Amino acid sequence: MKPDKPFNSFNPKGLLVGIVVAVGLLAMLTHLTEHTKNIGNISYKEFLDKVRGDQVKQVKVAGQFVEGVTKDNQKFQTVVAERPGDFDLLEKHGVDFAVSTPSMSTGSWHVFIVIGVLMLLGVISGWYLMRQMRNGGKNGGGAGGIFTIGKSKAKMFLPASIKERFSSVAGAHEAKEDLKDIVDFLKDAAKYRRLGAQITRGVLLVGEPGTGKTLLARAVAGEANCPFFSVSGSDFIEVFVGVGASRVRDLFAEARKKAPCIVFIDEIDAIGRQRGSSMGGGNEEREQTLNQLLTEMDGFETSKEPVIVLAATNRPDVLDKALIRPGRFDRQIEVPVPDLTSREEILKVHLKKVKAAPDLDVKRIARGTPGFTGADLANLVNEATVIASKKNLTEVGMYEFEEARDKIMLGTESKTMILTDHDRKMTSYHESGHALIRLLMPKDTDPLHKLTIIPRGRALGVTHFLPEREKYSRNKEELLATIAAALAGRAAEELVFNELSTGAYSDFKAATEVARSMVCLYGMTDELGKRVYLDSYDSKGGYSQKTFEKIDEEITKILNDQYAIAMQMLIDNRDKLNLLAETLLDKETMYAAEVYELLGIEPRADLRLV
Ligand code: ADP
Ligand code: ZN
Repeated sequence: MKPDKPFNSFNPKGLLVGIVVAVGLLAMLTHLTEHTKNIGNISYKEFLDKVRGDQVKQVKVAGQFVEGVTKDNQKFQTVVAERPGDFDLLEKHGVDFAVSTPSMSTGSWHVFIVIGVLMLLGVISGWYLMRQMRNGGKNGGGAGGIFTIGKSKAKMFLPASIKERFSSVAGAHEAKEDLKDIVDFLKDAAKYRRLGAQITRGVLLVGEPGTGKTLLARAVAGEANCPFFSVSGSDFIEVFVGVGASRVRDLFAEARKKAPCIVFIDEIDAIGRQRGSSMGGGNEEREQTLNQLLTEMDGFETSKEPVIVLAATNRPDVLDKALIRPGRFDRQIEVPVPDLTSREEILKVHLKKVKAAPDLDVKRIARGTPGFTGADLANLVNEATVIASKKNLTEVGMYEFEEARDKIMLGTESKTMILTDHDRKMTSYHESGHALIRLLMPKDTDPLHKLTIIPRGRALGVTHFLPEREKYSRNKEELLATIAAALAGRAAEELVFNELSTGAYSDFKAATEVARSMVCLYGMTDELGKRVYLDSYDSKGGYSQKTFEKIDEEITKILNDQYAIAMQMLIDNRDKLNLLAETLLDKETMYAAEVYELLGIEPRADLRLV
């Protein structure tokens, strides 16, 4: 897929000159600071006193200018009177001294070097700018080409060249459903404006690499029949502070001209990380770039036709809070690793492009590829086809898929998480444990939303709960239920497999955090009383070792009690646990309604409005 018109040009020569200039400046700066380090300006009198006090080791004399080092290695400089007698003094006190003509003093040497470098840089950049101005028209730099360095690296695709539609994206039904609004809006913004609707400007597509975020973004443009600008967050960042910001400005200036249109920013985290979160040189550049992006998005208010920014990331948690504020990226759409059904659909999309054997069991291939992303599956079909071609076959069969899968799984072991059957089973019981305790707890805080054993990032499975409403205070039973549910994953593992995995670490962390708050912040224990124990305590933090131990004891007691409660509930409801876990193992993802129905549990208050 070639972009229709690269309205920018990346210039490697520009980069080269940039590096030369930067290195030159850096060298100059270190040179200057090196030179002046430790030098104290002292008076003539002080100088004589130091010599008389035998404190001076060495001096260089150039006319009346003296530079020297004391015996304790302090550099100093001074201007002295022209008194030849002083040399006798130096000699008498054993100072090692050298004399040169004034113009060649060491001080001047440095100045000459600096001026030399500056002149050289001036000539180089002058020459470079001249060339750029002459070439400006040619490589589309515009504005005389001087600003090529700030030109965005984005690619633009015109609607005619965008072949993707929602039908090209298999699975991802929720994501597509959510994005339909955007398409509608791009097609007829006026309709929404009439009623004064707040206009969406930014949508975050959240998901692992290869799950089809780029594909979805292109499909939105395809459906809306509008231009598509594509750029990666890392493309904005260069050595120079200000370059990224100017690239963002250029990109959006161009996008506004083509509105309605889509701007797709892949890897938004490259620029969107929390500001001030890391040290180092690249930071200021990144922050300026981010600020410019925020400014541009705020400016959409005034433009008539919409520019919608779709951005992809798999780390929404590290993004700067300012980015996800209303009016910016205020919508998040999850693009999940496909479940069994979606894998089958994706395989079918890609199988259309090759000559597959009529008896190919697509469902079986889907079953055998848990954890594969859309990109992995596309790759699988391609690999199988390559293998079949090598064997001079007329069609691609099961056997080739088997071989291709083995090849991919070997190659991607570290990259994609592909689970063994045992891992999957254990994960399924773990997640079912969480869910079941949630459902059985009389005081249920957060209703079940969905549970899945599809790996996402580091976590093997995730059980999602929706907070019922913004709760500022929770009562003790609710907090205890939360702890029990968090620990129930591990309890299920222990009960069913009598085997412990490391998968419960984050559960423990969350449970411990809640227990600590109960003891230290909410005064919910009998023994420690109604007071706050700040967690900034250290050895000299104010309270005794005994109190310290007591806090630990109470936290551990809460956790142990809740673990025992969860375990007992699982034992009492073993049939439900087995049913849920085995069903989940098969379906891979289950929504709340399915779980209630399966277990015959009365659904709790639902959040939906209709
Ligand atoms: P991401 O942007 O999330 O990293 P991409 O959109 O670049 O992923 O996906 C890479 C390729 O994987 C796509 O070009 C497509 O061939 C395939 N693919 C991914 N998800 C799907 C899907 N849901 N349906 C069909 N193909 C998919
Ligand atoms: Zn868990």
